[in-house]
Amino acid sequence: MAVTSTGNDALEVLHRIFGYDAFRGNQQAIIDQVVAGGDALVLMPTGGGKSLCYQIPALVRAGVGVVVSPLIALMQDQVDALTALGVRAGFLNSTQDAESRRQVERDFLSGDLDLLYLAPERLRVDSTVRLLDQGKISLFAIDEAHCVAQWGHDFRPDYLALSMLHERWPDVPRIALTATATEATHAEIATRLNLEDARHFVASFDRPNIQYRIAPKNDQKKQLLDLLRTEHPGDAGIVYCLSRASVEKTAEFLVANGVPALPYHAGLDSRVRAANQSRFLREDGLVMVATIAFGMGIDKPDVRFVAHLDLPKSVEGYYQETGRAGRDGLPSTAWLAYGLQDVVQQRKMIDTSEGDAAHRRRLGTHLDAMLALCETVQCRRVQLLAYFGQKSDPCGNCDTCLNPPESWDGTVPAQKLLSTVYRLRNERNQKFGAGQSIDILLGKRTDKVVQHDHDQLKVFGIGTELKDTEWRGVVRQLLAQSLLAVEGDYGTLVLTESSDDVLKSRRQVMLRREPERASRSSRVSKS
Ligand code: ADP
Ligand code: ZN
Repeated sequence: MAVTSTGNDALEVLHRIFGYDAFRGNQQAIIDQVVAGGDALVLMPTGGGKSLCYQIPALVRAGVGVVVSPLIALMQDQVDALTALGVRAGFLNSTQDAESRRQVERDFLSGDLDLLYLAPERLRVDSTVRLLDQGKISLFAIDEAHCVAQWGHDFRPDYLALSMLHERWPDVPRIALTATATEATHAEIATRLNLEDARHFVASFDRPNIQYRIAPKNDQKKQLLDLLRTEHPGDAGIVYCLSRASVEKTAEFLVANGVPALPYHAGLDSRVRAANQSRFLREDGLVMVATIAFGMGIDKPDVRFVAHLDLPKSVEGYYQETGRAGRDGLPSTAWLAYGLQDVVQQRKMIDTSEGDAAHRRRLGTHLDAMLALCETVQCRRVQLLAYFGQKSDPCGNCDTCLNPPESWDGTVPAQKLLSTVYRLRNERNQKFGAGQSIDILLGKRTDKVVQHDHDQLKVFGIGTELKDTEWRGVVRQLLAQSLLAVEGDYGTLVLTESSDDVLKSRRQVMLRREPERASRSSRVSKS
């Protein structure tokens, strides 16, 4: 195809090859920029239409468009889909045999390719770089560009090497794309990929058709089943769990209760994984129960809900995972169950994680932002978009807009709880988790309370103004606000540097009160 920089060719390709009438959002501007040989950095939410932003310039410009993507498992699908449209595409990654690799290399050299997909680690291999040197490249597309940012949640060391693209091929335009980036990540992508002078295209991250809801966790499997039965019967959806074991158990539980569900996690045989993924994509109304190993690059338009049974580690992760719902623009639900145990577990994972202090601090900051989203009394969407540096108005379509929680002054209960922790941990040097402190505050003479003489403590029975579940909410929120911490394997509660300010009444503690909800009943068979 001829080299040109007029938008008409792009539009013609959109009609003729892809069969669409018009560009969406800022696709046209992005495509014009790259077709004209300029660099672009594109931030656009999932489903926004990022692929066309490099596929069309690759078709309009002379040479082969080289797409760097970490999604090796999807390359075959992507290439098949393009081939079906008559686009000449190939890929090079570690999964293919020598013969098909040589065929792709020959096609690249003879100019018989429009698009070549490459795994990032390929670019660290000399022979690949030499190969690229011998062909004609129309552009470099760097997909999932947030993987280059150490600040982000999905860092991949191989991406750091991509700064060499600009050094080695300064005349080839580059377009970097991502569906998730805070301002810090955005800036880091620009620096690390030498894209400061590129044009930046930042689309709105709002996904208005997604209803965000975060519920206190009590019996998450039953809560999930309620959600599916009352709001999403027969719908396709994704359920995220933290561990492989809970993926398996949750999938079995759903199947036992008549919901067609499939498991997906990295511990499954790769053939089983691939089979489950392809069933989910092709069949209607399946529920995929998965770890976060599932989903990047999955293009299924009618995912009606994304449920999290465990707390995501970061807002970026949460946004990206929930973003897989409702790509078709129809109403969809993002539902998260969140409880005290999540906070305990995640803080512990950070404390014991590998990496230096700066790394742990970064993980802590990510978690804090996620907790703030869970505990907010404001519109979830406002808070979510603000995290990505975008201003918005209350949406009227999230749980806090629809059913506003109260914010209340929890200073006194907080003081009672912190005093209890102080007496146990600091005075007596004992190690107890949240349950024991709550029993003490409620004045419960359990075996464990009596055995340790905890009914003799001055704080025994001073907290009867709140119910057990409300105390758990107080503990959870104090943990979220870092006014309380956990240590060790058993979730021992300990004070933090800031606890003292509360105990000495130098600091007020505002807490969120969960709105009362009509409890729905449904039949559940345990499994
Ligand atoms: P992203 O990579 O940003 O998540 P995709 O590139 O996969 O999004 O596009 C999402 C869906 O929207 C795809 O099914 C794609 O074919 C479709 N799409 C993209 N651009 C347009 C357009 N201009 N008109 C109609 N459909 C489009
Ligand atoms: Zn809202």
